[in-house]
Amino acid sequence: MKILIYSTKDFEREYLIVANENLHVVNFSRELLSESTANRAIGYDVISVFAGDDASAPIIKKLNHAGIRGIAIRGVGYDNVDIVKAKELGIRVANVPEYSPYAVAEHAAGMILALNRKLILADQQVHKHNYKIDNLIGFDLNRKKVGIIGTGRIGSVMAKILYGFGCWVLAYDIKPDKYIEDHYGVFYTNLQTVCNESDIITIHTPLNEQTRYMVNKELIDKMKPGVILINTSRGAVVKTEDIVDALKTGRIAGLGMDVYEKENRIFFFDRSANPPQDEMLKELMSLPNVLITPHQAFATKDAIINIATTTFYNINCWAENKNSENELPLAETRLVKTIMRKNHSQFSY
Ligand code: NAD
Repeated sequence: MKILIYSTKDFEREYLIVANENLHVVNFSRELLSESTANRAIGYDVISVFAGDDASAPIIKKLNHAGIRGIAIRGVGYDNVDIVKAKELGIRVANVPEYSPYAVAEHAAGMILALNRKLILADQQVHKHNYKIDNLIGFDLNRKKVGIIGTGRIGSVMAKILYGFGCWVLAYDIKPDKYIEDHYGVFYTNLQTVCNESDIITIHTPLNEQTRYMVNKELIDKMKPGVILINTSRGAVVKTEDIVDALKTGRIAGLGMDVYEKENRIFFFDRSANPPQDEMLKELMSLPNVLITPHQAFATKDAIINIATTTFYNINCWAENKNSENELPLAETRLVKTIMRKNHSQFSY
């Protein structure tokens, strides 16, 4: 098969080459998939996309005309791909449902620690030979209440990490997970109670019609004053302008954000010579209690290897005219864990 990889990042290229095992003709493009780049797919069988690519309905139509039969998403989230339109046109879509929930949960935990213990500020002060700690006082995580919104693969790992810190974990999910209730003392309740009670809230839901702008002024008003909010899910799960207002009044004491609702064409790029003219991002950067990372929560070597392996597993299934269990809409059974374990041995890194 001929495969075009859109949005290729330097950090993943070598892993994708290894995962291909010389089976397919693969071309790498740094370009994002968009209205203007969709025609580049002419002559290919399958494309692969990343979080910032636009595979909305009009672009899916163009890909269909170009002859594309499969879209392999290099990640978990698929809010940027119109799966209904793809299915209607007979284009297969598959994601990598579980490459490393640990990577994302560990990053979220790192953000909690960095904000609470003011690690970035401490480092900056020390570099200026200011060794005072008066403005660096945090709080114990032990016996604090932490709310998890969305306890799927990532949220459940988060529950385990927080349990290790001695936190009381409150959770809201449309599908509660009995295992983490039984093993990590997670207490499921409604969204309002999670907000009322929690000292820290961490978000791990997908972005969909129900969750878009789920964290808005109305919900923030229900939160404990001084709450720390962490978002490593998708930017538009929170209404950023409402968060900015709450950060300014101190209603929210700290924000850790790995994702931003307008991150497209900003995150993942070196914009130092051409800084984005995004007023809301500028405002967030000007606030001392905001910690921003550029959608890197997933970025561990383990995760990148798993993404490459499962992406080519999906493509190989299509090459053999078989279904992959990672096809969207979600299939009943997921065998990815087994596949990842099986394929891991080919990497000598
Ligand atoms: P998952 O599907 O395993 O878990 C999502 C959970 O959210 C599920 O338990 C589901 O029931 C719950 N949920 C869905 N809609 C809900 C709603 N309206 N209210 C409450 N709960 C709801 O997904 P996951 O692997 O845990 O990943 C979660 C999200 O994290 C992904 O969709 C993706 O957007 C994001 N993500 C970000 C990064 C990053 O690098 N920042 C990396 C991977 C994933």
